[in-house]
Amino acid sequence: MEVAPAYKSRSGWNALLPQRIAKNQAPKDRRFRTVVVGAGYTGLAAARRLAELAPGEEVLLLDAATIGEGASGRNSGFLLINPGEPSANAAGFAGDWAVRQIALVQAGLDWLRQLVEIYSIDCDWQESVPAITAAATSRGEESVRATCSRYQSWAIESKEYRHDELRRLVGTGYYRYGIQSLTRALVQPAALHRGLADSLPDAVTLLENTAVNSFSGEAPFRLQTSRGEFVADRLFVTNNLHARSLGIARNRMIGIYTYGAFTPQLDEAELSPLGEAPQWGALPAHRMGTTLRKTMGRLLIRSGDSYERELDPDKVRAMLARLYRDRFPGMRTHEFEHVWGGLTAVTHNGAFYFGQARPGLFASVGCGGAGVTRGTIHGKLLAELACGSQSTLLTDRLALRGPNWLPPEPFRRMGATAQIAWEQWLAGAER
Ligand SMILES: Cc1cc2nc3c(=O)[nH]c(=O)nc-3n(C[C@H](O)[C@H](O)[C@H](O)COP(=O)(O)OP(=O)(O)OC[C@H]3O[C@@H](n4cnc5c(N)ncnc54)[C@H](O)[C@@H]3O)c2cc1C
Repeated sequence: MEVAPAYKSRSGWNALLPQRIAKNQAPKDRRFRTVVVGAGYTGLAAARRLAELAPGEEVLLLDAATIGEGASGRNSGFLLINPGEPSANAAGFAGDWAVRQIALVQAGLDWLRQLVEIYSIDCDWQESVPAITAAATSRGEESVRATCSRYQSWAIESKEYRHDELRRLVGTGYYRYGIQSLTRALVQPAALHRGLADSLPDAVTLLENTAVNSFSGEAPFRLQTSRGEFVADRLFVTNNLHARSLGIARNRMIGIYTYGAFTPQLDEAELSPLGEAPQWGALPAHRMGTTLRKTMGRLLIRSGDSYERELDPDKVRAMLARLYRDRFPGMRTHEFEHVWGGLTAVTHNGAFYFGQARPGLFASVGCGGAGVTRGTIHGKLLAELACGSQSTLLTDRLALRGPNWLPPEPFRRMGATAQIAWEQWLAGAER
């Protein structure tokens, strides 16, 4: 089992930013009160909140990759407030389960907005760009209409878009119906990820390009890393799927790769077939569908799902070019400047593994979709849990159930690949 992701291509978002010098200087001290493993949105939030709650406490934050290159800098930049877990039953809440879950994720969004303002993080944070959930098929339309009714029952207003309105907005007649999604902001995700990492409190030492290979069982924990041993009284595991290789949630998560691509910078003539709005985002009506964004003078497309293994980049390029052509046949070319894969952790019931695993060992992993806001609030609450803080949000988070058990290989693979194939078929032209 790999200890950390090893992607075949750079994140397109990160490649668009100026070069950044990674924090590669290993500290002289080898012993820290707290070590956090994984500097995605979850780990960054946990490390920041720990430093806020326990001033003077030195925190070491380790990441196997460089900031901007993990999934946190590879995603599509939709900051969503969707209730993450699919049903009241999974959540363990009563009738107001969605409202309480939305409040959790909203708190993640609010904290991010505050940090972006305080530290002037230049990440193209946009709250007024149209972000819709769009359906291309009758089945998709049915599902989006059902979603719209759900929003109404949660007292969330959602604008509806007819076929002709969608065509005007996004420039393609591919979609028949849409609603305003639960996206509350759109960002340049690698810029947000970098900005959060580069504005950490002084008490946090960030060390990039450092993979944690293993750790010993009891506090103080001895961590074996690619830069030697570190010792920690408290350990936070926030490296999502790869927590499995550290013995956490081993039988609770699978890895699903999905894929993104950017066109080159388009000139005015090429941008006009992409609709009258200068920027927009479109999420699919099915979870195996295709996401699009018109942003920074380019088209972003995200689609495809593969079990545990990253597909060959040439095949991904061809697949994404086909989906782009299907939607915008009139474009001069369907070429991409950047194509990349990204890994998400998927649990059977959509739930996170969250809490204290044993004395001194805290973990929040299992973050799939909506991970920018959900990962952030989970990291923050994990630090609050460790520091003994109390709040309604934390109580609500602790009431959520954990992820379901998954069968071992080869049954896991067989089940997951069959489910992916079935859902891809169901998604049809939403892909
Ligand atoms: C293509 C794509 C599009 C997406 N679109 C969206 C979107 O629009 N909106 C949204 O909210 N979410 C989206 N997501 C999901 C989102 O990116 C994730 O849910 C989010 O990044 C999870 O954050 P995290 O901090 O929990 O994990 P990660 O971002 O995966 O961070 C974990 C970190 O741990 C590090 N690590 C792993 N193993 C080790 C180790 N052994 N030692 C040290 N470090 C280690 C990794 O390098 C990584 O930086 C998308 C994901 C992908 C791949």
